[in-house]
Amino acid sequence: MSGWLAIAGLGPGDAALITPEVSAALATATDVLGYAPYVARVAAREGLSLHGSDNREELDRARHALRLAARGRRAVIVSSGDPGVFAMAAAVFEVLEEQPEWLALEVRVLPGITAMLAAAAKAGAPLGHDFCAINLSDNLKPWAVIEKRLRLAAKADFAMAFYNPRSRARPDGFARVLDVLREECGPERLVMFARAVSTKDERMTAVTLAEAVPEMADMRTVVLVGNSQTRAAGRFIYTPRAAP
Ligand code: SAH
Repeated sequence: MSGWLAIAGLGPGDAALITPEVSAALATATDVLGYAPYVARVAAREGLSLHGSDNREELDRARHALRLAARGRRAVIVSSGDPGVFAMAAAVFEVLEEQPEWLALEVRVLPGITAMLAAAAKAGAPLGHDFCAINLSDNLKPWAVIEKRLRLAAKADFAMAFYNPRSRARPDGFARVLDVLREECGPERLVMFARAVSTKDERMTAVTLAEAVPEMADMRTVVLVGNSQTRAAGRFIYTPRAAP
Protein backbone atom coordinates (compact mmCIF):
# COMPACT_ATOMS: atom_id res chain seq x y z
CA MET A 1 0.00 0.00 0.00
CA SER A 2 1.40 3.43 -0.85
CA GLY A 3 1.90 6.02 1.83
CA TRP A 4 0.24 9.35 2.24
CA LEU A 5 0.20 12.40 4.46
CA ALA A 6 -2.89 14.21 5.70
CA ILE A 7 -2.69 17.48 7.62
CA ALA A 8 -5.90 17.48 9.61
CA GLY A 9 -7.80 19.87 11.85
CA LEU A 10 -9.32 18.48 15.06
CA GLY A 11 -11.66 21.44 15.58
CA PRO A 12 -11.84 23.51 18.77
CA GLY A 13 -12.21 20.64 21.25
CA ASP A 14 -15.58 18.88 21.16
CA ALA A 15 -15.34 15.51 19.37
CA ALA A 16 -18.69 16.27 17.70
CA LEU A 17 -16.95 19.09 15.81
CA ILE A 18 -14.39 16.79 14.13
CA THR A 19 -15.37 16.25 10.49
CA PRO A 20 -16.12 12.71 9.25
CA GLU A 21 -13.30 13.15 6.72
CA VAL A 22 -10.77 13.73 9.51
CA SER A 23 -12.15 10.79 11.54
CA ALA A 24 -11.78 8.53 8.48
CA ALA A 25 -8.15 9.59 7.97
CA LEU A 26 -7.36 8.93 11.65
CA ALA A 27 -9.06 5.51 11.45
CA THR A 28 -6.73 4.37 8.66
CA ALA A 29 -3.55 6.13 9.83
CA THR A 30 -0.43 4.30 10.98
CA ASP A 31 1.14 7.42 12.51
CA VAL A 32 -0.22 10.57 14.14
CA LEU A 33 2.13 13.51 14.70
CA GLY A 34 1.65 16.90 16.30
CA TYR A 35 1.99 19.10 19.34
CA ALA A 36 1.62 16.67 22.27
CA PRO A 37 -1.70 18.06 23.67
CA TYR A 38 -3.31 17.71 20.23
CA VAL A 39 -1.98 14.17 19.71
CA ALA A 40 -3.44 13.33 23.14
CA ARG A 41 -6.90 14.00 21.68
CA VAL A 42 -6.50 11.01 19.32
CA ALA A 43 -7.55 7.63 20.78
CA ALA A 44 -4.72 5.10 20.98
CA ARG A 45 -5.24 1.81 19.18
CA GLU A 46 -3.15 -1.13 18.05
CA GLY A 47 -1.10 -0.40 14.95
CA LEU A 48 -1.17 3.36 15.51
CA SER A 49 2.04 5.14 16.53
CA LEU A 50 1.54 8.46 18.32
CA HIS A 51 4.35 11.04 17.96
CA GLY A 52 3.73 14.00 20.26
CA SER A 53 6.31 16.78 20.12
CA ASP A 54 7.03 20.28 21.30
CA ASN A 55 5.25 23.21 19.67
CA ARG A 56 8.46 24.81 18.43
CA GLU A 57 9.41 21.88 16.19
CA GLU A 58 7.04 22.49 13.30
CA LEU A 59 9.44 22.11 10.36
CA ASP A 60 11.14 19.02 11.85
CA ARG A 61 7.72 17.49 12.49
CA ALA A 62 6.72 18.17 8.89
CA ARG A 63 9.92 16.49 7.60
CA HIS A 64 9.37 13.53 9.89
CA ALA A 65 5.83 13.05 8.55
CA LEU A 66 6.97 13.32 4.92
CA ARG A 67 9.71 10.74 5.54
CA LEU A 68 7.12 8.38 7.03
CA ALA A 69 4.78 8.82 4.06
CA ALA A 70 7.68 8.25 1.63
CA ARG A 71 8.34 4.93 3.44
CA GLY A 72 4.75 3.82 2.78
CA ARG A 73 3.23 4.87 6.12
CA ARG A 74 -0.13 6.64 6.42
CA ALA A 75 0.70 9.75 8.43
CA VAL A 76 -1.66 12.34 9.88
CA ILE A 77 -0.35 15.61 11.31
CA VAL A 78 -2.98 16.99 13.65
CA SER A 79 -3.61 20.66 14.46
CA SER A 80 -6.31 22.12 16.63
CA GLY A 81 -9.05 23.97 14.78
CA ASP A 82 -8.13 24.19 11.10
CA PRO A 83 -4.64 23.13 9.95
CA GLY A 84 -4.37 26.11 7.59
CA VAL A 85 -5.03 28.72 10.31
CA PHE A 86 -1.78 29.54 12.16
CA ALA A 87 -0.94 25.84 12.12
CA MET A 88 0.87 22.96 10.42
CA ALA A 89 -0.34 23.00 6.80
CA ALA A 90 1.88 25.89 5.72
CA ALA A 91 4.85 24.34 7.56
CA VAL A 92 4.50 21.16 5.46
CA PHE A 93 4.53 23.11 2.20
CA GLU A 94 7.57 25.07 3.40
CA VAL A 95 9.63 21.86 3.47
CA LEU A 96 7.93 19.91 0.65
CA GLU A 97 10.45 20.94 -2.00
CA GLU A 98 13.50 19.85 0.00
CA GLN A 99 13.30 16.30 -1.41
CA PRO A 100 12.08 15.86 -5.00
CA GLU A 101 10.29 12.59 -4.14
CA TRP A 102 8.20 14.35 -1.51
CA LEU A 103 6.53 16.46 -4.22
CA ALA A 104 5.10 13.28 -5.76
CA LEU A 105 3.53 12.07 -2.49
CA GLU A 106 -0.19 12.09 -1.83
CA VAL A 107 -0.59 15.08 0.49
CA ARG A 108 -4.02 16.31 1.58
CA VAL A 109 -5.13 19.15 3.83
CA LEU A 110 -8.31 18.23 5.73
CA PRO A 111 -10.09 21.32 7.07
CA GLY A 112 -11.43 21.73 10.57
CA ILE A 113 -13.56 24.23 12.47
CA THR A 114 -11.26 27.04 13.45
CA ALA A 115 -11.48 28.70 16.88
CA MET A 116 -12.84 32.03 15.64
CA LEU A 117 -15.77 30.37 13.85
CA ALA A 118 -16.63 28.15 16.81
CA ALA A 119 -16.46 31.23 19.08
CA ALA A 120 -18.50 33.37 16.69
CA ALA A 121 -21.20 30.71 16.53
CA LYS A 122 -21.42 30.64 20.35
CA ALA A 123 -21.76 34.42 20.52
CA GLY A 124 -24.27 34.75 17.66
CA ALA A 125 -22.82 36.19 14.45
CA PRO A 126 -20.16 38.81 15.30
CA LEU A 127 -18.23 37.95 12.10
CA GLY A 128 -21.34 38.33 9.92
CA HIS A 129 -19.81 41.11 7.81
CA ASP A 130 -16.19 41.53 6.60
CA PHE A 131 -13.58 40.44 9.10
CA CYS A 132 -9.91 39.51 9.44
CA ALA A 133 -7.85 37.17 11.60
CA ILE A 134 -4.56 38.23 13.20
CA ASN A 135 -2.11 36.07 15.13
CA LEU A 136 -0.85 38.23 18.02
CA SER A 137 2.19 36.05 18.71
CA ASP A 138 5.44 37.77 17.79
CA ASN A 139 7.32 34.45 17.53
CA LEU A 140 7.15 34.46 13.73
CA LYS A 141 6.89 38.18 12.92
CA PRO A 142 8.01 41.46 14.46
CA TRP A 143 5.69 43.39 16.77
CA ALA A 144 5.74 46.37 14.34
CA VAL A 145 3.99 44.22 11.70
CA ILE A 146 1.33 43.16 14.19
CA GLU A 147 0.65 46.74 15.25
CA LYS A 148 0.48 47.98 11.64
CA ARG A 149 -2.02 45.28 10.59
CA LEU A 150 -4.10 45.80 13.72
CA ARG A 151 -4.30 49.56 13.22
CA LEU A 152 -5.13 49.34 9.52
CA ALA A 153 -7.77 46.64 10.10
CA ALA A 154 -9.38 48.80 12.78
CA LYS A 155 -9.28 51.87 10.51
CA ALA A 156 -10.92 49.84 7.72
CA ASP A 157 -13.69 48.86 10.18
CA PHE A 158 -13.13 45.13 9.93
CA ALA A 159 -14.40 42.93 12.72
CA MET A 160 -11.31 41.09 14.01
CA ALA A 161 -10.36 37.75 15.50
CA PHE A 162 -7.13 37.52 17.50
CA TYR A 163 -5.36 34.21 17.97
CA ASN A 164 -2.59 33.63 20.55
CA PRO A 165 -3.54 36.86 22.33
CA ARG A 166 -1.45 36.55 25.46
CA SER A 167 1.08 34.15 26.96
CA ARG A 168 3.38 34.08 29.95
CA ALA A 169 6.30 34.76 27.59
CA ARG A 170 4.51 37.85 26.21
CA PRO A 171 2.55 39.38 29.09
CA ASP A 172 2.60 42.98 27.76
CA GLY A 173 1.76 42.74 24.06
CA PHE A 174 -1.97 42.32 24.55
CA ALA A 175 -2.20 45.44 26.76
CA ARG A 176 -0.70 47.37 23.83
CA VAL A 177 -3.23 45.78 21.48
CA LEU A 178 -6.08 46.99 23.68
CA ASP A 179 -4.56 50.50 23.75
CA VAL A 180 -4.34 50.61 19.94
CA LEU A 181 -7.94 49.39 19.65
CA ARG A 182 -9.19 52.02 22.10
CA GLU A 183 -7.40 54.70 20.06
CA GLU A 184 -8.89 53.51 16.76
CA CYS A 185 -12.33 52.19 17.77
CA GLY A 186 -13.33 54.16 20.88
CA PRO A 187 -14.52 52.82 24.24
CA GLU A 188 -17.94 51.44 23.24
CA ARG A 189 -16.73 48.79 20.77
CA LEU A 190 -17.83 45.25 21.68
CA VAL A 191 -15.16 42.65 22.50
CA MET A 192 -15.74 38.96 23.14
CA PHE A 193 -13.26 36.81 25.04
CA ALA A 194 -14.01 33.22 24.07
CA ARG A 195 -12.00 30.79 26.18
CA ALA A 196 -11.67 27.04 25.55
CA VAL A 197 -14.70 27.05 23.26
CA SER A 198 -16.53 23.71 23.05
CA THR A 199 -14.63 22.20 25.98
CA LYS A 200 -15.67 21.75 29.64
CA ASP A 201 -13.67 24.90 30.47
CA GLU A 202 -15.56 27.12 28.02
CA ARG A 203 -16.13 30.69 29.15
CA MET A 204 -17.63 33.45 27.01
CA THR A 205 -17.22 37.05 28.22
CA ALA A 206 -18.59 40.04 26.28
CA VAL A 207 -17.51 43.54 27.32
CA THR A 208 -16.87 46.97 25.79
CA LEU A 209 -13.33 48.08 25.00
CA ALA A 210 -13.55 50.42 28.01
CA GLU A 211 -14.12 47.41 30.26
CA ALA A 212 -11.61 45.06 28.61
CA VAL A 213 -8.46 44.21 30.60
CA PRO A 214 -5.52 42.08 29.42
CA GLU A 215 -6.13 39.43 32.10
CA MET A 216 -9.37 38.45 30.33
CA ALA A 217 -7.26 36.65 27.69
CA ASP A 218 -4.82 33.75 27.83
CA MET A 219 -3.46 31.22 25.35
CA ARG A 220 -6.74 29.29 25.33
CA THR A 221 -8.71 32.40 24.36
CA VAL A 222 -9.65 33.72 20.96
CA VAL A 223 -10.65 37.38 21.09
CA LEU A 224 -13.32 38.73 18.74
CA VAL A 225 -13.70 42.47 18.24
CA GLY A 226 -16.81 43.74 16.50
CA ASN A 227 -16.93 46.39 13.81
CA SER A 228 -18.64 49.75 14.34
CA GLN A 229 -22.07 48.20 13.65
CA THR A 230 -21.76 45.13 15.91
CA ARG A 231 -24.52 45.09 18.50
CA ALA A 232 -26.25 42.96 21.12
CA ALA A 233 -29.66 41.37 20.65
CA GLY A 234 -30.56 39.98 24.05
CA ARG A 235 -27.85 37.46 24.88
CA PHE A 236 -26.57 37.36 21.28
CA ILE A 237 -23.99 39.55 19.56
CA TYR A 238 -24.12 40.05 15.82
CA THR A 239 -22.82 42.23 13.03
CA PRO A 240 -25.46 43.20 10.47
CA ARG A 241 -25.08 41.88 6.93
CA ALA A 242 -24.95 45.37 5.38
CA ALA A 243 -22.51 48.22 5.96
CA PRO A 244 -24.10 51.67 6.45
N1 SAH B 1 -5.25 26.10 14.08
C1 SAH B 1 -5.96 26.64 15.25
C2 SAH B 1 -5.26 27.87 15.82
C3 SAH B 1 -3.88 27.58 16.39
S1 SAH B 1 -3.17 28.98 17.20
C4 SAH B 1 -7.40 26.97 14.85
O1 SAH B 1 -7.72 26.96 13.66
O2 SAH B 1 -8.22 27.23 15.73
C5 SAH B 1 -3.69 28.69 18.88
C6 SAH B 1 -4.73 29.71 19.30
O3 SAH B 1 -6.01 29.34 18.79
C7 SAH B 1 -4.96 29.87 20.78
O4 SAH B 1 -4.00 30.74 21.39
C8 SAH B 1 -6.35 30.50 20.82
O5 SAH B 1 -6.27 31.88 20.47
C9 SAH B 1 -7.02 29.78 19.66
N2 SAH B 1 -7.82 28.60 20.08
C10 SAH B 1 -7.62 27.32 19.74
N3 SAH B 1 -8.59 26.52 20.26
C11 SAH B 1 -9.43 27.34 20.93
C12 SAH B 1 -10.63 27.13 21.68
N4 SAH B 1 -11.18 25.91 21.82
N5 SAH B 1 -11.24 28.21 22.24
C13 SAH B 1 -10.72 29.45 22.09
N6 SAH B 1 -9.58 29.71 21.39
C14 SAH B 1 -8.94 28.67 20.83
